[in-house]
Amino acid sequence: MLHGKFILMAGLALLAVSCSDNDTTVDDNDRSHPSTNDTKVIAHRGYWNAPETKGAQNSIASLKAAQDFGAYGAEFDVNMTADDKLVVLHGPSHKGISNVQTADFEQVRAKTLENGEPTPTLAEYLEQGAKNKGTKLILEIKNHATDARETQVVEAVIDEVESAGMKEQVEYIAFSLHVCKEIVRLDPEAKVAYLNGDLSPAELKELGITGLDYQKAKMTANPSWLRDARALGITVNVWTINNADDMQWAVNKGVDYITTDYPDQVQAVIDAKNAAIKK
Ligand code: MG
Repeated sequence: MLHGKFILMAGLALLAVSCSDNDTTVDDNDRSHPSTNDTKVIAHRGYWNAPETKGAQNSIASLKAAQDFGAYGAEFDVNMTADDKLVVLHGPSHKGISNVQTADFEQVRAKTLENGEPTPTLAEYLEQGAKNKGTKLILEIKNHATDARETQVVEAVIDEVESAGMKEQVEYIAFSLHVCKEIVRLDPEAKVAYLNGDLSPAELKELGITGLDYQKAKMTANPSWLRDARALGITVNVWTINNADDMQWAVNKGVDYITTDYPDQVQAVIDAKNAAIKK
């Protein structure tokens, strides 16, 4: 078993070295401490692929599995129900409900996840988050019907995070530019990354947004963005990195964060690169 693990790690290390040799853009990795790779893993919708989670995305169990794994962050999705309650689920449809944003909380709450949990509230998710301060909560606010409704959701989320004493542990992400702007307005110290892929690092900086969180294709289509982001102090997260080639690409680039459904595999690629560097 140990022998097999050694062969696997050695193979990954060789792969890391050979890919990095072949990657003509590896000089993008111009960090101030180039001898280590501090790329960090974010578990997409929690570590729902962990055996004990039974495939339940956005569950308390998937957050706990991400915490137990030691992920930098656990990403999760927040929606507001028609009666103004904040729930953790991807949506807009959910377990037979066509749109959770036009359904009442009790309807949504009654839906159980694959592991038997009720659909979590934001309050419950924050409560579990507080049990392990080593894992950040990467809170995605989903798009809502109007700008006014999105403002209401942002206000409610920030209130709930503040009253739970969780400001230091929560980082925000959103596809909606309006949501990002409202987070910047209402909590200027918060970390907030934009997901939609259509703004440059300079445009984000101008708006007070602290990070970009884009698909790999957006980064490869805009090859200067990684370097520009670093020069401007904008963090770089890529999603959702699930296959071996993409994992190797992201680790070789030295992005700040990799959001993945397979935290263990991404961590192995990071560890292999670090092991190769130390030799
Ligand atoms: Mg999400």
